[in-house]
Amino acid sequence: MHSSLFNQSFRIQTCFLTLLCSALAGCIGVSPGEESAVVTRAQMQMGTLVRITAVARSESVARAAATAGFAEIRRLEELLSTWIPTSELSRVNASAGVMPVHVSSETLTVVQRAVQAAEMTDGGFNIAIGPAVDAWSVIEGRRIPAESELEALRPLVDLMSVHVDVREQTIYLGKAGMRIDVGGIGKGYAADQVVDALRRAGAIAGVVALSGDIKTFGRLPGGKKFPVGIQHPRKGGSVLAWIDLQDEAISTAGDYERFFEREGVRYHHILDPRTLQPARSCQSVTVVAREGIWADGLDTGIFVMGAELGMRLVEALPDVEAIIVDAEGRLLVSSGLKQRIRLP
Ligand code: ADP
Ligand code: MG
Repeated sequence: MHSSLFNQSFRIQTCFLTLLCSALAGCIGVSPGEESAVVTRAQMQMGTLVRITAVARSESVARAAATAGFAEIRRLEELLSTWIPTSELSRVNASAGVMPVHVSSETLTVVQRAVQAAEMTDGGFNIAIGPAVDAWSVIEGRRIPAESELEALRPLVDLMSVHVDVREQTIYLGKAGMRIDVGGIGKGYAADQVVDALRRAGAIAGVVALSGDIKTFGRLPGGKKFPVGIQHPRKGGSVLAWIDLQDEAISTAGDYERFFEREGVRYHHILDPRTLQPARSCQSVTVVAREGIWADGLDTGIFVMGAELGMRLVEALPDVEAIIVDAEGRLLVSSGLKQRIRLP
């Protein structure tokens, strides 16, 4: 889990923090009326800025909860980061075409959910995309791979060759050179796990934001929900819409945070698994769901599917809502969010 795998949507986070901080002004520390304390801390983790806000009955409990949250992310990195050569996923990738690798039930769960997300999004989401992500290397390399190079990688981006054996608890990539990349789903899963860690440590409410992957639980002292601003994909620093969350996750996949332009064409980090080219059908997809793993897994897959098919999927799923900006810049809002969002 590194910046090049786990892209950032800082704006969503920044807006969230701006509002949250103003909402919390005067509440930092123990506020006598509320008998609750709010602690917010930030650290670089998973190659991105992670912010944890914990609300608890005392400041010491809130601090301990935030510490437990950061420790939880470090633990998950040891399982899922492909930048740590000894992580479980790195070992799975290193054994591609050779043998199955025994993994923890958590790694198995993330990969299983990723396969489910692929089925739900008609193959728009595909964790076997790793070799193509490396070929583009949107942040570091800024190169446009030749069509012949992508053609050679195509057989490796093959979800059918990702074998998950639940009974043996193993993952086997059937072809040498295959690599799975959980960059499109792992931060959402981490957000879920951090919230569980905060609760276990005694927090009564809180928020974790791994750049643009945010999960909330409970309410702010005073009873307000957690306000989040969604970044406008073409107006840097502007908010597209505001939404208040309670016990929900929100995640955005956009073509505006990690991209480069060449001869007027935008090349970004979300690839269409069919063409292995940057997906062209949306500017941004924001998904609200109960679990971060679904918010994150679905935003990337829906981005590839496109606005119309994506919105049809969202409307068919219970407890999943979306705000989509299509390729032409039109705003689409799912039926369950129409009454909930506020436009600036
Ligand atoms: P963010 O990292 O900003 O949360 P996403 O959730 O959209 O954004 O994930 C983008 C990352 O997912 C890319 O950096 C890449 O590692 C990976 N990825 C790119 N295209 C796909 C795809 N079609 N399916 C699955 N993962 C993808
Ligand atoms: Mg995603």
